[in-house]
Amino acid sequence: MVAKRINSAHGSSSALITAVVANARGEIFDLAGFAAVGSDGPPLSPLSTDLTRRLPHGSELMFLPDRIPALYDMRRECVVTLPENPYVPGEAIYPVAAFNSPGYVITHTPAYAERPGAGLLPLFSYGAVGWHRGRFRSAVLQVDDEPRQDLRQMPLDKIKVGVQRMRRTLPDNRLRAHLEKCALTYGCPAGKNFFLGRYEAPLPTSPACNAHCLGCISLQTDPALTSSQDRIAFTPSPDEIAAVALTHIRRVKQAVVSFGQGCEGDPLMVADTIVAAIRAIRRQTDQGTINMNTNGSLPDRIIPLIEAGLDSLRISLNSVREPCYTAYFRPSGYGFGDVAATIDTALAHGAHVAINYLNCPGFTDTPQECDALLAFLSAHPVQMIQWRNLNYDPLRYRERMADAAPQGPAMGLARLLDQVRQRFPRLRHGYFNPPKEIYRK
Ligand code: SF4
Repeated sequence: MVAKRINSAHGSSSALITAVVANARGEIFDLAGFAAVGSDGPPLSPLSTDLTRRLPHGSELMFLPDRIPALYDMRRECVVTLPENPYVPGEAIYPVAAFNSPGYVITHTPAYAERPGAGLLPLFSYGAVGWHRGRFRSAVLQVDDEPRQDLRQMPLDKIKVGVQRMRRTLPDNRLRAHLEKCALTYGCPAGKNFFLGRYEAPLPTSPACNAHCLGCISLQTDPALTSSQDRIAFTPSPDEIAAVALTHIRRVKQAVVSFGQGCEGDPLMVADTIVAAIRAIRRQTDQGTINMNTNGSLPDRIIPLIEAGLDSLRISLNSVREPCYTAYFRPSGYGFGDVAATIDTALAHGAHVAINYLNCPGFTDTPQECDALLAFLSAHPVQMIQWRNLNYDPLRYRERMADAAPQGPAMGLARLLDQVRQRFPRLRHGYFNPPKEIYRK
């Protein structure tokens, strides 16, 4: 069947991609006569080849229960919501989404309407997807091409060999034992990389957090949601942390070791232990990059960490507008101002600072968010933005953000990225924490 073409945003014509849906058994299939539709907030747009790319390797497909897909009817040339398979009367159909691999940021979420009584979607990011010439295509932009978490380079048998090796190397180390569960049970790519001796190793340390993020993946109090991993229940000793870090640094070129992982609270809550651990590492080597992923809530704890030898920080933000930040992070005992102060303190003391920008199309790319981000980057000149997909129900998230502050129609993530690049040409864009050899040239 000849693919219908449309005039794309920049005047060239490109082929619409066919819609994919699922039945109640979770079988995914393409629906002839209908094109995939992406949502960038309220604006729904038929997806075409120029707005999508081949589904990145390692991405997963999910069907969305209790929801009705919105598709582009090619014959009637309009968007329709379709509760049933037009070719199998009575068969309910459901929207399909892509959980894209690391390094790809979503530009559109799937278009759908909730059925009455629909619950919250589980904690994943949901990207729009379609079918074209025998392949799935995803509505994403690539922001990082480093194979740090490319599953093709992380074979399970090699991970298991690494686990055995580390059991011999660090027999009584509780942190090493915890990372085994991360790698083998939770499938954490950072945990796997420790046992494979690749790129970046995780150093989870904190059972506690002073935020209460809607989409926290280590501790959920919302009965409608399940956290994807258990939060670490102990704080490793400085020696245990240093031993794991040094083991990784000694065998990996341009190694990165990172505090602040998905299986813990916030590392700033145990800053004293981390200062002692960093000192123990730096007494033995100046190699490797010591990084901290954090909510940046406690500015007064930053200087001792940097003086001990912390090289870089990555601060998580869903928005730089306080009402939207507060509505998502639900901070306790700190505010957005403290996060900005942490960034300023770290920059002033020579640390590399990245923002971990939790993106949701239809919110992140609204004019209000764009203007606020540009103003924030002027006032707080960080070195990098890591574009991440927010792991939360997109429709419910947009509703919460709309309750928190006004939002105009989305401009599109590509345009947002262009504006940031034009205004801040030296700002690095990516997905992964860079080794210091990259930014201290
Ligand atoms: S800052 Fe991290 S650990 Fe704390 S609530 Fe948010 S996601 Fe969870």
